[in-house]
Amino acid sequence: MAYTATAFAALPQLVGCASQENAGSQSASNDSAEDPSAASALNVEPEEAGPPPEEAGPPRFIARIAVIGDTHVSSTFEPAVIHTQAAFQAITQFNPKPDAIVINGDITDHGLEEEYDLVAQLAEEAGLQFPDDFVPVMGNHEQRGADGHNTPETYQELRDAFLRRCELRRLYYDTEVNGLHLIVLGPDADPAAWYSFKLSDEQLSWLDDLLERDEEQGRRSFVFLHQPADNTVCYTHEGELAHASLESSDALLQVVSKHPNVILTTGHSHSPSDFQRPDPEGPLFVANSAIAYLRLDPHNGSGEGGFGMSRGLVVDVYSDRTEFISWDYVLGDEADTGRYTQLTR
Ligand SMILES: [Zn+2]
Repeated sequence: MAYTATAFAALPQLVGCASQENAGSQSASNDSAEDPSAASALNVEPEEAGPPPEEAGPPRFIARIAVIGDTHVSSTFEPAVIHTQAAFQAITQFNPKPDAIVINGDITDHGLEEEYDLVAQLAEEAGLQFPDDFVPVMGNHEQRGADGHNTPETYQELRDAFLRRCELRRLYYDTEVNGLHLIVLGPDADPAAWYSFKLSDEQLSWLDDLLERDEEQGRRSFVFLHQPADNTVCYTHEGELAHASLESSDALLQVVSKHPNVILTTGHSHSPSDFQRPDPEGPLFVANSAIAYLRLDPHNGSGEGGFGMSRGLVVDVYSDRTEFISWDYVLGDEADTGRYTQLTR
């Protein structure tokens, strides 16, 4: 099957989440007005990777992380395939190249073998290898299956398929990239329904220990989870479409809220990119937006008006700051939802 990228002209102007207006006052610095040309916007001068970021001395570039998600690859959902193909190709053209590519859940639309095959094929066509070149995160669509009607046995089969296709031993794991600590969370407990998400107590306790250690060492903890916690980023507030989508929301927030070094990046809602730090002594919550399509109305899950739109993040990590650039992976341009900079203490 061959897919070709099409032109995405005349996209509607995307207005960021209303709550995003608060981001500037909550961050140490939020320079969303910066608007260099698309090409130069992603060009930084990489220096040799060295010791962990939290050292003294002049600011150093440490790593670039491409964060995409909600690709929803399926042979019956052609727009998602076209956007994913464009995103993979865009990533290979970044300069400098990303040191890690996080794919934050809903990689496939149903978690079917042929959908994982298609993801691998699209990656290969772009010059990438799936899963080798990716940091994969399981989404609720990977626990959906063909018809969404699951038993404990079929949930386990779908989790096993994800682990096998992503060559992972566990749904939650951590990895190091140029001295940065990346922590991946996943749905290792049976949910109430396939569109819901549950994290085990064991996983949360493992996370607590890692975050404790990072904080003691003065390191940032880059945490990735598909489903957002309630009342964090846009579309997660009462009455909005991603509210109550994470069954373990309270328990997760209890763990992460103790740690100001945490950056928790989530997907799922197909909202515009969003950056929120409700407690200046607490974690930063980030929405990475979606590759397949966006939802422009927090109360309407249909995607009306957002088909043809595609967003992800480029995260440039420096010793003194973390820069999040909302990137249109299809148009190859900085998205109108801007950028956010968090200074490291
Ligand atoms: Zn999802």
